[in-house]
Amino acid sequence: MTGLKKSVIRAGLETLYFSGAHALMRPFVGGIGAIVTLHHVRPPRRDAFQPNQPLEVTPRFLEQVVRRLRRQRLDLISLDEMHRRLNDGDFKRRFVCVTIDDGYRDTAQFAYPILKAHDVPFAIYVPTSFPDRIGELWWRALEAVVARNRRITLLINDQERGFECATAAEKHHVFDQLDKWVRSFRTADELRRVVRDLSVRYQVDIADFCEELCMSWEDLSRLAADPLVTIGAHTVNHVSLAKTPERQARAEMAMSRSVIEASLGLRPDHLSYPVGDSTAAGRREFRIAAELGFKTAVTMRPGVLFPEHGGHLTALPRISLNGEHQQSRYVGVLLSGAATAVCNGFRRVDAA
Ligand SMILES: [Zn+2]
Repeated sequence: MTGLKKSVIRAGLETLYFSGAHALMRPFVGGIGAIVTLHHVRPPRRDAFQPNQPLEVTPRFLEQVVRRLRRQRLDLISLDEMHRRLNDGDFKRRFVCVTIDDGYRDTAQFAYPILKAHDVPFAIYVPTSFPDRIGELWWRALEAVVARNRRITLLINDQERGFECATAAEKHHVFDQLDKWVRSFRTADELRRVVRDLSVRYQVDIADFCEELCMSWEDLSRLAADPLVTIGAHTVNHVSLAKTPERQARAEMAMSRSVIEASLGLRPDHLSYPVGDSTAAGRREFRIAAELGFKTAVTMRPGVLFPEHGGHLTALPRISLNGEHQQSRYVGVLLSGAATAVCNGFRRVDAA
């Protein structure tokens, strides 16, 4: 999502909430249901520099959201049930699917007990290199490089450039610049190479983040044993598929399913595209996912579901419950579809 879209959503949420406009708009934009997405669920930390905080919510927030959803007249369902309803055109009741990306340790530690207590089915999308302990959480490596240094130098377009990052404000600024820069690369390989080089230069061990932050196969198999839990694929290396050659993109999707099957004894039917915005997954990826036989595949394009999505099952939008709108009163607004309808220009399906 672009910064502009984010600020539109944030400003829009306040306006929509306080005006009550979302309640009026709901019959027009509310659709048939929604898929919500989370990444980290963990207690707040005090550090002044937490640039990846937008990917976190607190357990308290999740608890409030689940209680709010349970009070509403909607069904909390699994991805398989959502798939059935979209296929059968069974839209008698609105529904919400809860999904969690990346398979962080805090999914087991904080999210699972809450979802279990309220009997909420949910999916975990696992990039297999994370439990295999060879994954590169490049956004964490960038954070560590900036956090641990007072100044860094970079080779940008063959020119050595220095960045002061002594204070928290400077660190935030430098991280934003770096993040924007690496996301602008045309290939996923270039991003990985630049972050690897930076990590070597500033003695950050990228592999450490897997062990520190991500569940092991044993952790995953404990969760997978619960009928509430669906394990979904999320590629092997967590790369932006649209920035990867077609054969490699196809292999990333197919291999991740095979590795999960070999490790957990279950074959995932559902896929989440890493990063998931329109720069990371588009028409080609939607086609490949369908060709590989995934029942559904989800993006990070914001939006609620409409009956028309039954014809675009590998291009489904999601509502991100991320750290930036961490107020449970917003959740009703987001699920009404009003905020994302504004952001999508009232277009229902975005599968291009
Ligand atoms: Zn992810």
